[in-house]
Amino acid sequence: MKGIEKLKQFLMEAESASVLTGAGVSTESGLRDFRGKDGLWKGKNPYDIADIDVLFKEDRSEFVEFYTQRIKDLMNARPNVAHEILDKWQSLGWISRIITQNVDGFHRSPGVVELHGNLSGLHCMKCGTQYMSSRYVMLEKSEGKAYTCSQCSGFVRPNVILFGESLSRRALIEAYGTAHVSDLLIVMGTSLMVTPASDLPRIVKSYGGKVVIINKDKTDLDGMADLVIRHDKLHEVLEQVDSILPIKINPTVNRTTTSSEGLIYGSDIDFHDDVE
Ligand SMILES: [Zn+2]
Repeated sequence: MKGIEKLKQFLMEAESASVLTGAGVSTESGLRDFRGKDGLWKGKNPYDIADIDVLFKEDRSEFVEFYTQRIKDLMNARPNVAHEILDKWQSLGWISRIITQNVDGFHRSPGVVELHGNLSGLHCMKCGTQYMSSRYVMLEKSEGKAYTCSQCSGFVRPNVILFGESLSRRALIEAYGTAHVSDLLIVMGTSLMVTPASDLPRIVKSYGGKVVIINKDKTDLDGMADLVIRHDKLHEVLEQVDSILPIKINPTVNRTTTSSEGLIYGSDIDFHDDVE
């Protein structure tokens, strides 16, 4: 596969690398994307279902049905190899932060920025009481109790950002802040058609950083990227890079002071030469 060696090099040179993931990473866990040929929006108008205005209509049954199905899909899916490798890279210090457009909660690394919220939870629109999202599924046949708050009878909705809603201020600050301090941004599985995701590569480039785009299809920002890897299975790209990344002896060593010291390569490990 082309570009693997180059991506490894970029990771080793970066002082602060971050990763932006989109639907393409979730689909490898068996979750459907939105706009693909078998996507969630197929034959439907997203604004009829997942729009903020729907929450103020009398009939919210389609909204509840749609999210109940998505929550069921999520309960049957698991993080995939791509999630595992990214989590590992963060724990080893190869990357400092993960930003995601996905709402599946499959990135478990500390500090992950979930731009569009997280489908594992629900909250009451009136009193704010939090519930597990399994409530929608378990109470599906309960004549409306699934989405009625047991404290105040308000409407219980998923903790995700709907069309027409603003992103959380905190998520935005964290995402833009991360882009400003990243000298490498690896973008995976997103067509970069919506903001703020599409702003992030531009910010990194404007501060002299590098951008790598790994995706199945062409994206609008391929032209500005330092490296584009086009491949159907995103986790395979990460697996290949992971297999040639050196092992770090001391992940806590400040990345800025480690060029080749502190790193050992492949199977050629000899702790006595390099480490006291
Ligand atoms: Zn309530």
